[in-house]
Amino acid sequence: MTDKPVSPATRCIHPQEPRDPHGALRLPLYNTTAFRHDSTADLLDVVEGRKPGCIYTRFGGNPNIVSVEQTLAALEQAEQGVLFSAGMAAISSLFFAHGQQGVLCIGDLYGGTQDFLQRQGVALGIRHRLLAAEQLEQLEQVLAEGYRLVYFETPANPTLALLDIAAISRRAQACGALVAIDNTFATPVNQQPLTLGADLVLHSASKYLGGHSDLTAGVVLGRAELLAPLADWRRALGQMPAPETAVLLARSLSTLVPRVRLHNANALAVAMALQGHPRIRQVCYPGLPDFPGHALACRQMSGFGGMLSIELESGEAARQVAEALQLFLLAPSLGGVESLVTQPCTTSHHDMPADERRRRGISDGLLRLSVGLEEAGDLIADLLQALQQLDG
Ligand SMILES: *Cc1c(COP(=O)(O)O)cnc(C)c1O
Repeated sequence: MTDKPVSPATRCIHPQEPRDPHGALRLPLYNTTAFRHDSTADLLDVVEGRKPGCIYTRFGGNPNIVSVEQTLAALEQAEQGVLFSAGMAAISSLFFAHGQQGVLCIGDLYGGTQDFLQRQGVALGIRHRLLAAEQLEQLEQVLAEGYRLVYFETPANPTLALLDIAAISRRAQACGALVAIDNTFATPVNQQPLTLGADLVLHSASKYLGGHSDLTAGVVLGRAELLAPLADWRRALGQMPAPETAVLLARSLSTLVPRVRLHNANALAVAMALQGHPRIRQVCYPGLPDFPGHALACRQMSGFGGMLSIELESGEAARQVAEALQLFLLAPSLGGVESLVTQPCTTSHHDMPADERRRRGISDGLLRLSVGLEEAGDLIADLLQALQQLDG
């Protein structure tokens, strides 16, 4: 390959290092717990950081893990990445490494993240504060209480509400805080938070990065000095993914860019087809011109993503539509090739008090769609037939 930096789409297909000594097109699976060394001196060179290499897979350095970390770093334009066994492993290690002075969260959070902060985080002495998007003017005031990590998701689950990464990063950093973004919904294809000023970006690789609903992993990306303590937590807690998972993820990343572009196109087609439907109160999709966050989406995203939500007149109507769908499968995940549907009040937000759900715009009639890679026309036809079956 030339020395000129290639675009992330090309880097996904031509991962850089490490290369296979036999010239295999794909890096083979290094399914080994430990690595042999020729001498104690050689081993010490690796242990003491004078030479790259691997000692023990859980410690890092396994070629399959390193290769995926480098591809993901190229995608997010990050200096480095640290791969984890799950998105929640990435998130918990981030809070251990950088949340000891407190975590200030903004807007709606993934349920697992909120649970971790409220239960394990509290038990371990990691304090946190949840600031609603409408309370953003209090950011400086709350940071003055000593919080050193600002954390949020955009677009958020399940309302697709957006937050301004550049503006919040500037304000938080002016107060001496780091900014970390969960970029799972957007993917690095559609949004690169580090280029907008964030310090750290993370993903549940179980979603779009894996893309086929068949692997569980996570990653945090950013500057090397911020990632070193995360790698320590990963090692201490044993949050390293299996090399097999890294190989599967590497294979998925080869097609990430075209997959996400098709997710974007399909979701936009579905959103436009459903907008104005007499049984739908509201279609939430950042790509629709009348969506409240549309102007911001145009500024900070290069594609609008594969997630959208529709609001029906009642929880019963939402249940009927979800169950009448044939191509959209009823399952609580996202980002795979197959389209999925969930009713957040019965799944991800089931444990949230009803008035809190209402305050956040998560009505019982809300359905979240993860638009897959089927033919858009088939997906639209499926939704229209399900809506037609509604009583009355
Ligand atoms: C799924 C998800 C996570 C958690 O990831 P796991 O791989 O399931 O641990 C975190 N954040 C968001 C936005 C997610 O959708």
